[in-house]
Amino acid sequence: MDNLIITIAPTGNVPTREMTPHVPVTPEEIVRDIVDCYNAGAAVAHIHARDEEQHPTPRAEVFAEILERLEATGCPIIRQLSTGGRHGKTLEERSQNLTLNPEMASLSTGSTNFPNMAYVNAPDLIEYLAGMMKERNIKPEIEVFDTAMINNAVLLAQKGMIREPLQFNFVMGIRGALPATPKNLFHLVESIPAGSPWTVSVIGPQHVPLSTIALAMGGHVRVGIEDNIYYAKGDLTTNVRLVERIVRIAREVGREIATPDEAREMLGLKR
Ligand code: MG
Repeated sequence: MDNLIITIAPTGNVPTREMTPHVPVTPEEIVRDIVDCYNAGAAVAHIHARDEEQHPTPRAEVFAEILERLEATGCPIIRQLSTGGRHGKTLEERSQNLTLNPEMASLSTGSTNFPNMAYVNAPDLIEYLAGMMKERNIKPEIEVFDTAMINNAVLLAQKGMIREPLQFNFVMGIRGALPATPKNLFHLVESIPAGSPWTVSVIGPQHVPLSTIALAMGGHVRVGIEDNIYYAKGDLTTNVRLVERIVRIAREVGREIATPDEAREMLGLKR
């Protein structure tokens, strides 16, 4: 099996300081957590930005500050910027941070429901983001919230809009979207083109058992406060504790941990 790529998603759009004291929201805090998680074994950082009021922001200058601070630390972790939609609706807002030419960016290839809102990724938006990523040599991570999104990604690749290998992240356990069950995971894995690298991002109490199943199957794992604010029931977690736990589980099942450069090789990135 390939070495395990651990992605850290430290912030996301939803957790606030009122929900957990551990969520990093300023560029300085986000970078501190990313570096700590890299030192613990993470190879990819999935980055969201917040404004002064902790609200999700699409503003490129905030992402730029995070990237600059991260660069200054010398941390070699892969930078993956979110193009997720809670912070903006227009093509311009959703794509602003791609002008910073990160190595990777997230790309949802369909629409779904979140607990309190519809998460809309219309075909024109998807093609716009995919086109911009291709033009700038930004590797998309296909964010799969429902099975139809796999086929949409394959169709985009057939049209030449996404370079292969496609890399998938299965986001499971969001209320209103795909339940976090082994059966759903097996179906997703069977549905992607053979040989495509894949990751799971499990929200809710299934995140430990289902992530363990994924890594035993040869998949990769994303953890972080974006997906889970609790380490266990009643125990608010830090980002680094979530990484450390996955590293321990992986070692116990015989999976070594990928460095950022090993991850670059597996994902087909060129630095
Ligand atoms: Mg995200």
